[in-house]
Amino acid sequence: MAIEVTPCIMPAMSQPQGNVVRKSFEAPVRDVMDGASRIEMTIHDHGLVALVDVMPRLVPEGKTADFAIVQAARVSYGEGTKQVNEDTGLIRYLARHRHTTPYEMVEFKFHHVMPIFIARQWIRHRTANVNEYSARYSIVKDRFYHPTLDNVRKQSTSNRQGGEGPADLATAQEFLNYLDEIEKSYIKYQEFIDKGVAREIARIALPASVYTEWYWKTDLHNLLRFLSLRMDPHAQLEIRDYAWAMFEIIRPIVPIAAQAFLDYDFEAMHLTRLEIEAIKNGQPLNSTNKREAAEWEEKKAKLGL
Ligand SMILES: Cc1cc2nc3c(=O)[nH]c(=O)nc-3n(C[C@H](O)[C@H](O)[C@H](O)COP(=O)(O)OP(=O)(O)OC[C@H]3O[C@@H](n4cnc5c(N)ncnc54)[C@H](O)[C@@H]3O)c2cc1C
Repeated sequence: MAIEVTPCIMPAMSQPQGNVVRKSFEAPVRDVMDGASRIEMTIHDHGLVALVDVMPRLVPEGKTADFAIVQAARVSYGEGTKQVNEDTGLIRYLARHRHTTPYEMVEFKFHHVMPIFIARQWIRHRTANVNEYSARYSIVKDRFYHPTLDNVRKQSTSNRQGGEGPADLATAQEFLNYLDEIEKSYIKYQEFIDKGVAREIARIALPASVYTEWYWKTDLHNLLRFLSLRMDPHAQLEIRDYAWAMFEIIRPIVPIAAQAFLDYDFEAMHLTRLEIEAIKNGQPLNSTNKREAAEWEEKKAKLGL
C-alpha cells in the first residue's frame, strides 16, 4: 500500500495533533460507472433520468458498489462477520432483517427532467437532497407532457386514486385537443415575459404538465424505499416509468442489493396477524372491512391459495 504524508499547514491556534495521510487502494480499482459521466434513459416525450455520480465511485477490481454496504456492515459486526463472511449472504441478510444503515453508505446523484405533476408526487420523499430549476431566475422551457392516445386513462372504479384502461377514443382525442390548446399558454407566457412581466409571475398560468428539472441525491436505503412505493402498480403510471428507469440504471451498479430488494421487498408480501390466522385455521379473514378483505383475496391469489 502506498502511503503519502502531507505536513499540515494550519493556523497555530488550531494545529492538529497529526499529519494528513493519503493511502492508495491495495488492489486495482474500477469505476462503477465504467468511465461514463452520465448514464441516461429518456422517458416519455421530454423526460430524462440521468445518473451523474455514485458513492463509492471507485471500488476494488471485481467488486460492485455493493462493496460499500459490506464494508460498513463489517464495521458494525466486527468479528461476528466471520460467520457471514460472504458478501452476497451478508447483504441479503441485512435486507431481510431491515438492517438498513449499511445501505446508506451508497449514494446516487441523478439529474431528472419531469412534468411538474410528477415532481409534486416525487418531492414528498423527504430524504433526498434536491436542487431544482428556478422558474423565477430562468425562462421555463417549451416542454409539456402530452400522453399518447391510449394513455388517456379512464377513472378506475375500484381505486379512487387510479386510472384503468384507455378512455373511449373520441373522449381521449378530445382531451388531447384540449391539451394542445392549454399548451398554447406558452405563447402568452413568452409574450408577457417580453413585455417585462417578472418570470416569477409570468409562470403562474403554465399548466402542471410543463417540465421542470432537478438534481436529486439520495442513499441506497432511501432510494429503495422510493422505488418500493413508486415502482408499485398503485403508483401513477408516469412516475412508475421514472422509478423503473432508475432501478434499471442502478441495478448493475449494486446488483446484489438490487436482487435482494426484489426478493425481500418489491416482490415479497407482508402478512397481517389476521391473515396468518386465516391461513393457519383455514378460515375466512376475521374482518368485516371490505378493503382489507379485497387485499386478502389479492394476496391469496398470489399465494395460490
Ligand atoms: C400510491 C401513493 C399514493 C399517495 N397518495 C397521497 C395522497 O393522496 N396525499 C398525500 O398527501 N400523499 C400521498 N402519497 C404520499 C405518501 O403519503 C408519502 O408522503 C410519500 O410516499 C413519501 O413517503 P415517505 O414519508 O415514506 O418517504 P420519505 O419522505 O422519503 O421518508 C422516508 C422515511 O423517512 C422517515 N421520515 C422522513 N421524514 C420524516 C419526518 N419528518 N419525521 C419522521 N420520520 C420521517 C419515515 O420513516 C419515512 O417513512 C401517496 C404515495 C403513494 C405511493
